[in-house]
Amino acid sequence: MKELICIVCPRGCVLKVDKQGNVTGNLCPRGIKYGIQETTNPLRNITSSIKVSNRPHTLVSVKASAPIPKDKIFDVMTAINALTIEAPTEIGQVVKHDLLGLGVNIIITKKIV
Ligand code: SF4
Repeated sequence: MKELICIVCPRGCVLKVDKQGNVTGNLCPRGIKYGIQETTNPLRNITSSIKVSNRPHTLVSVKASAPIPKDKIFDVMTAINALTIEAPTEIGQVVKHDLLGLGVNIIITKKIV
């Protein structure tokens, strides 16, 4: 039996997930999905920033296009930290396709003119 806090909404239900994947403690169906996902293949959304190579001391914010497996976060952050881009940038611009073969793109989230 694993106990975890549902983070899907601010209510923060305390979930219990047994070895058969039965979830209790949820106040809505989203907690069931979260509890099963979190105990079988936990995923995390990634946001960060990368250097703008032609603008000294300037960073631009980026995000992953989809959640990534929790156990890949360190590798993904290392790969993101190695990326650079030249200004101007556009929101939605892809900096890196299929990062580390995970099927996730790294996308610019700030416009720099
Ligand atoms: S189970 Fe539903 S109500 Fe409870 S925290 Fe998760 S999303 Fe919110």
